[in-house]
Amino acid sequence: MSPRHTIGIKMNRYDILKGVELKKSLCGHCGEMKPEVKRRRLCTAYVEEESNLVESCFECYIERNDYWIERWMDYYCAAL
Ligand SMILES: [Zn+2]
Repeated sequence: MSPRHTIGIKMNRYDILKGVELKKSLCGHCGEMKPEVKRRRLCTAYVEEESNLVESCFECYIERNDYWIERWMDYYCAAL
């Protein structure tokens, strides 16, 4: 790992901490004020790109993405 890479990681950590302290937004999924409410891409394959995006807190995103990963697993297992 280069020194430059290490600095990059440290700066990212600082930015994350700063964001957690300052910004809390209402998550439309759990209905709570949470830091890091933003749009993220799910592992879905909808034709319209909009449908692959979800705006939520990090926990809800993980939960939803896990749900889709399971659906994909079902899909691939059924196809075998
Ligand atoms: Zn949430």
